[in-house]
Amino acid sequence: MSKRRRIAVANWKMYGKLTSGLALARRICTLVEENSPLSYDVVLCPPATLTWSASEVIDGVYSLSIGGQDCHYESYGPYTGDISAAMLSDLGAKFVILGHSERRIAHGETNAFIARKIEAAQFAGLTAILCVGETAEDLNKDSALSVITTQLKESLPAKVRMSQLIIAYEPVWAIGTGIQPSPEDIAKMHKHIRSVLGESGETTRIIYGGSVTPANAPLILANDDIDGVLVGSASLEAESFWAIAEHCA
Ligand code: PEP
Repeated sequence: MSKRRRIAVANWKMYGKLTSGLALARRICTLVEENSPLSYDVVLCPPATLTWSASEVIDGVYSLSIGGQDCHYESYGPYTGDISAAMLSDLGAKFVILGHSERRIAHGETNAFIARKIEAAQFAGLTAILCVGETAEDLNKDSALSVITTQLKESLPAKVRMSQLIIAYEPVWAIGTGIQPSPEDIAKMHKHIRSVLGESGETTRIIYGGSVTPANAPLILANDDIDGVLVGSASLEAESFWAIAEHCA
């Protein structure tokens, strides 16, 4: 039994229109209600276009929340195409994924930039889900531990509120590839992250993401030190996401 309340996060990425996205949210809502009260949290992170309507769908359902996939570091301003943490919160979001490798790579997000976003998210009352993870090249150079240390030290703002923070360990080479670190390697990295976080390491939720499926979830979540999962592709279908999430119990 994990010491911290576990959490299953669905990252829908840029998938889901009004009809299909809300149908998925409704189905997950039903599964949560049928199994209520859950001993863990479930967070759906739809595209920003669905934040409000998905929030309405899940309104009042215990243990179920909505999150954003990114936010700007300012509350408002001349930033065409961006969305602020305050806006996400206004639409009912309680969480926001920050520093996902797809944003670090495709949008050139730096650790310093992500730190500003975490500060803004926490100020708006959101819990930030900070993604960290090494690339295949880092792994081959045997520098995964030091890369994660740097990402954590530089991405966490000086005034970080640890009670509004979750760390997602997501090796870049495991995202969407169907390959994964061994449970031992995941455990080793989680331990490392806890040690970098120092005193807060024992209370902070640290989850794993990268090609999690119903088949491998039991093995990953067999370790009490893994506080949950961040799921991409397998979260786009309610039954497969649920078959993963229920192992958080
Ligand atoms: C992700 O994008 O955060 C992720 C973990 O994706 P996938 O589950 O598809 O590897």
